[in-house]
Amino acid sequence: MNQVILTGDRPTGRLHVGHYVGSLERRVRLQNSGEFDEIYIMIADAQALTDNAEHPEKVRQNIIQVALDYLACGIDPEKSTIFIQSMVPELTELTFYYMNLVTVSRVQRNPTVKAEIQMRNFEASIPVGFFCYPISQAADITAFRATAVPVGEDQLPMLEQCKEIVHKFNTVYGETLTDPQIILPDNQACLRLPGIDGKAKMSKSLGNCIYLSDEADEIRKKVMSMFTDPNHLRVEDPGKVDGNPVFIYLDAFCRPEHFQEFLPDYQNLDELKAHYTRGGLGDVKVKKFLNNVLQAELGPIRERRKYWEAHTDEVYAMLKEGSERARAKAAETLRDVRHAMQIDYFG
Ligand code: ATP
Ligand code: MG
Repeated sequence: MNQVILTGDRPTGRLHVGHYVGSLERRVRLQNSGEFDEIYIMIADAQALTDNAEHPEKVRQNIIQVALDYLACGIDPEKSTIFIQSMVPELTELTFYYMNLVTVSRVQRNPTVKAEIQMRNFEASIPVGFFCYPISQAADITAFRATAVPVGEDQLPMLEQCKEIVHKFNTVYGETLTDPQIILPDNQACLRLPGIDGKAKMSKSLGNCIYLSDEADEIRKKVMSMFTDPNHLRVEDPGKVDGNPVFIYLDAFCRPEHFQEFLPDYQNLDELKAHYTRGGLGDVKVKKFLNNVLQAELGPIRERRKYWEAHTDEVYAMLKEGSERARAKAAETLRDVRHAMQIDYFG
């Protein structure tokens, strides 16, 4: 069977380090592994409009920002097809057919939908389109016959819903759709990176992010202002590393060679954590180390981004070409779907 990846991001803002460790970094590794025959990376503008209907300019502006972030991280248009969701209208038609295979109560039970409704204060005024976005996500995944979907942990309920739609469709209309597998980060800290404010998730909508495009100085300021253990008041006090965002970021980003380079008094992260836990290690020292680690990781990404920022014409041309390629693939699947559903009247 063809090994195919489908994944994507909503153009609601520039991408941040949560996206990087939760999904982007993995995509680049999978892309370069040579194990996949086709890779599709979608900028989900139609999905972004489900909760930004009144801000089309925001969605439009962020298409290029997300594309720049992709290229900066090492997504290679020679190996991966980057495309814009709304340029593939076949996805909308698939969504419409899949809607018949899902109940309202099933979507209501989706934990990510629940959490996002609460986060956006939608409660009694949920846009129908927003409510249905898990179904449209199933259309995105199945249109490309994706076998693998590398995403962050918040996407797990979406993948479960997608698999249910696949099974239901194949049961009712005959074996047509491909069953996808989710690929989660293998590093625990990367499943859901917290915000610099200590909130459970770094999110564009919450404004608690370190962006991939942040300048060195902004990164340093953000790191130095980060939430840590609130009870670790004096250097000699014992501190907590569990749930402490500074240590979670170190879990996500730091490698043994960073100690040799920036903090040679310690061999590794376990030693640093042990010192913090028993007391005698100040937050400022740990934050300075984290800042060095992040600067080392993000510096080259920012430089590559600057190159592409000066070549946006090429980036738009790449998006146009990618969208055409994606559309051709989705049209094939739609043809099979229509055939299976017996709505291919004229041959
Ligand atoms: P929005 O607030 O508009 O929903 P977002 O920051 O949640 O934006 P998405 O575009 O919804 O970003 O998510 C894109 C991908 O990044 C998904 O695979 C998601 O699981 C992953 N992701 C987002 N935030 C984090 C995070 N804090 N930690 C790990 N992965 C994340
Ligand atoms: Mg999100």
